[in-house]
Amino acid sequence: MKPFLLATGNSHKLKEFQALLPENVWIGMPPEEIRFPPETGETYFQNAFLKATACLPAPGHWIIADDSGLEVDALEGRPGLLSARYAGMGASGLMNCQALAREMKEIPPERRTARFRCVLAVLDGDRGTLVAAAQGIVEGRLTRGILGEGGFGYDPLFIPDGYQVTFGILPEAVKNRVSHRARAVSGLLAILGLPGEARR
Ligand code: IMP
Repeated sequence: MKPFLLATGNSHKLKEFQALLPENVWIGMPPEEIRFPPETGETYFQNAFLKATACLPAPGHWIIADDSGLEVDALEGRPGLLSARYAGMGASGLMNCQALAREMKEIPPERRTARFRCVLAVLDGDRGTLVAAAQGIVEGRLTRGILGEGGFGYDPLFIPDGYQVTFGILPEAVKNRVSHRARAVSGLLAILGLPGEARR
């Protein structure tokens, strides 16, 4: 079983992947000198592929890249691919949440539905070829205010279906059971023939 490199600079994502992958699968970040290109893809998959490619070559590794975003129905799917920079390039999670909360201020509860989507691409670090791709979605709704300090990004605004509080408040173990990333990883493990029982 080859170790994974996670094509990201986001340490929150690394922590989630560590919890989602089986115990015997090692995952770490790429060397610091890796520079990720601008996310110019027209799809999550294209962006994931771009990020993974930036880590090549990675002898003896599988490179896994995650591109994800929040899709709000009342905003016709925005912020979507622009989720990371909704409040501008380099915006923090809090700034993005504030921008979205402002835009959604007048939207009534029944029109506050949204989903997180995660697309994963895995490349063979020796050959540069695509090994697997998978997608996961979690449906939910947006709160009015920013609630909770856990997680990252839009977590404090998003209540997953079946729960009453945001990902910013729910324990990490719950997010790691129901999240878009958890579902995408579970699909990926099935494709790779790895045991699906994560260490969470
Ligand atoms: P990426 O790192 O280019 O995939 O950007 C994903 C962006 O989508 C993040 O910066 C967050 O704003 C948002 N996002 C993706 N997944 C999550 C999540 O699990 N919780 C909260 N926000 C997320």
